[in-house]
Amino acid sequence: MSTEIVVPPGARFFFALWLPVDAAKKLHTVAGGVVGRCGGRLMREDALHITLAFLGEVPERRLVELQKVAAEFKLQKAPVRLDRLGFWNHNHILWAGTKEPDPALSALAAELQDLLVKAGFLTDAKPFLPHVTLLRKLLHPGALPELPAVEWSAAEFVLAKSWPSDRGSAYETVARWPLN
Ligand code: ATP
Ligand code: MG
Repeated sequence: MSTEIVVPPGARFFFALWLPVDAAKKLHTVAGGVVGRCGGRLMREDALHITLAFLGEVPERRLVELQKVAAEFKLQKAPVRLDRLGFWNHNHILWAGTKEPDPALSALAAELQDLLVKAGFLTDAKPFLPHVTLLRKLLHPGALPELPAVEWSAAEFVLAKSWPSDRGSAYETVARWPLN
């Protein structure tokens, strides 16, 4: 059964792996240490995710169809290992990512993007760059700390939405399906 999705003004949709609570807690703590020294705005612990495919705005009338097609996708479980912090100068984001991209995780994102293109929901599939945004508006990162590896096996994927709120973008999962 598909969920009735509330669509706030300016809502964007994306498929993601949501972080398990213990993984989110570890990364949020590391990011909190960076904020203490260098500033920036922390992502909420319960909003941490790895985007697999970004759809952007989806017309409300297509959301039921989107959930129907997603429920039919046969996607494989993938291991996730986050073992490095990185910083992007162009958007002032601190992120957690991987030293060695895992082929199974890349294959999951590629397969999902392919299925979404075929279903007419994704027009500009982008190369997948697995990362978790931890901090925004970080201007001077300084030397980044080592990241003790955070690992889990992704057993489900989610449809999520983000929308503008008075404290920056808000994020929420709207539906989830198991990986096989
Ligand atoms: P804001 O846009 O307000 O700075 P945000 O980038 O987190 O916040 P969205 O733009 O809605 O919010 O993006 C939701 C998720 O999708 C984020 O994880 C973001 O990194 C990712 N994302 C956004 N645009 C793209 C894109 N063109 N390709 C791949 N991933 C994207
Ligand atoms: Mg954005």
